[in-house]
Formats: sequence, C-alpha cells, structure tokens
Amino acid sequence: MFSDEISAHRYLERVLWPDGVCCPRCGDGGKVGELNGVSTRIGTYKCYKCRKIFSVLHGTLMSASHVPAHKWLQAMWLTEGGAKPMRAYHLARILNVSFKTASSMMRRIVEATRPASSCIESAGATRSQSTSRSADRMAARLTT
Ligand SMILES: [Zn+2]
Repeated sequence: MFSDEISAHRYLERVLWPDGVCCPRCGDGGKVGELNGVSTRIGTYKCYKCRKIFSVLHGTLMSASHVPAHKWLQAMWLTEGGAKPMRAYHLARILNVSFKTASSMMRRIVEATRPASSCIESAGATRSQSTSRSADRMAARLTT
C-alpha cells in the first residue's frame, strides 16, 4: 500500500477528485490536461482555462513538504490519521526519515483540519456518503 509516488498520487486523485481532475483555482475540470514530459513531476496537470499548473497535492499539507506523498500516506495509515499514538522514532524507522521529520509529520497529521477549496469540499461530501474507508478519511484530513 502506497509503496511509491505513482500509486500515492493515483490514490489521492481518486479520493480528492471523485468526479475527475479539478483545477484548484477555477474549481473546474473541463479543460485540464495531464503533463507527461520526461522532467515533469508525477501527477502534474495544467488547466487550460487559467493556465495554472497543479497536482492533487495542491492545498494539502503534502504540497509544501519535502517528504514524498507516499510516506505521508503511510504515516497517516500507521497512525490512523493521528488517532493512534505512536512514537516518532518508531515512525521514523518505518518510513526511513529522520526523527525530526517523523515528529513534525505526526504533529501536522494531528493538526490537519477540514478541506477548504470547492472541489475538495465536494469530494468531502461524496466521501461522507460512501462507506468511507479509514485511509480515505485520513487523506481528507490532510487537506488544509
Ligand atoms: Zn483553472
């Protein structure tokens, strides 16, 4: 589960964009294309309406982090979205990150609040109707 960046992105896209790719600026998925250049980061999209480049990580705690998304997802899964106490050194060892990074990740997971942008909110509505798996709820909690 979440062993690499591609699977992490595809997973987050399914959870946060249940109706398809959604531009965080115009809240529109109508004119969005995925960029596939060799040097392009995984899951990078461009909105042809407002010309914004974005990924599913936009607006989440993960976007400003040097920690790869799949490690965030693993941390959320292991700590049950911050609900389950876990020692930072233990998490650090599992994720192969520094103790400091693991402590800061745990703190941010616990502090993570509700989604803000329109497309993410609609994803939240869809999510609460479905039999939401705990990992999905955790991913949602990462949005700021
Ligand atoms: Zn746009």
